[in-house]
Parts: sequence; structure tokens; C-alpha cells
Amino acid sequence: MGKLLWPDWYFDDFTRIPPDFFKKNNIRYLICDIDNTLVTYDDAEPTEKVIGFFDRIKKEGVHPAFASNNDEGRVATFARKTGFPAVHKAGKPFGRGVGTAMRLLGAERKRTAMLGDQIFTDLLAARTAGVRMILVKPIKDKPSLLFRIKRYFEQMSIDRYLRRYEINASNPERKMKRKMKKLRKKLRREQRKKERK
Ligand SMILES: [Mg+2]
Repeated sequence: MGKLLWPDWYFDDFTRIPPDFFKKNNIRYLICDIDNTLVTYDDAEPTEKVIGFFDRIKKEGVHPAFASNNDEGRVATFARKTGFPAVHKAGKPFGRGVGTAMRLLGAERKRTAMLGDQIFTDLLAARTAGVRMILVKPIKDKPSLLFRIKRYFEQMSIDRYLRRYEINASNPERKMKRKMKKLRKKLRREQRKKERK
């Protein structure tokens, strides 16, 4: 689980990706998240910085596409302004949308990477789709990677606590369900015993 959640590369933001990076790492296809990776939610269109980045990597032979969980209107604007293929409502953390974006590019898995800011959507989607992951800090709120990992484990323990609390709380319906479950188990056990005889 631990390794699954680590990106292959990590940068403060997309402009910090060095010029020779894509060639050196055999990345020809780049599936990009939009929100907080390239622009903030307040930017309706790709900024000059974004256009500049794409111009640069296109010269390096990289073919980009978008895979965003955002809605069609927003994603279509980015597709129109750049001319890149785009998938909206990409369903990240599942790999389906990333796979669609790859098909639109004719991309091979081995030469593809995902660029995104979220561990539990972008990174997991990259893992599910079987491509490498370039993680960047979210543009708007810029917590460190460590901070976000910490937050995750915090949330995990909160969830665990809530589950335990819920189970222990005197909830008659839940108690009844548990009793029924035990009873069913017992019956199954007895059934098996009989069958063995
Ligand atoms: Mg994002």
C-alpha cells in the first residue's frame, strides 16, 4: 500500500519539470489533470504559463491530453484552447478516463505519464491505468506531500474510530443484525458438519 501511493516524480509545480525530463524518462504522452495542477479553479482558461509549458513540451515531442473529473464545459474549453484531446468526468481514481485519454492519443502505456496534484485521484488513477505519475503540489492550497500523507492517515484513523464507535454504540438494529449474522454462521457450521458425516 505504501509504495502504491508514492509518485514516480514530485515537483513543486509543472514549470519546475526540467527541459530534458520527458526525453530522459521516455515519456511521449502526458495525461494532464487540470484543476490545481495547471490552473486554479478560478482560471476558466489555460493561462500563459500553461500554454508556454505545452509549447515547450510539444517541441520535445510530447503529446498531451487532459483527463479531468470536472464537467464537460470546463474541460472542453481547455481542449479547444490547446487542441489536445480531453476526457471530462474522468472517474479518477479509477483508470478508465485515463485509458480513454490514452486511446485518443494512441499512447503506449510504457511511454505515458500522468501529471496531477492529488494522490487519491490522480496518482491512483495512474496506478490503475498502469502509467507513471508526476505529482505536483496543488496550486491553490500548497500543503507539502508529507502534510497530505499525514492528513490521509489522520482521516484513516478518524474513519476507523467512527466505525468502531458505531459498532460499539448501543444500536438495537445493529445488535440484531450482528445476532442474525452469528446465527447464520452457526447454522452454516452445523450444516457443514452434517454434510461431512
Ligand atoms: Mg487536481
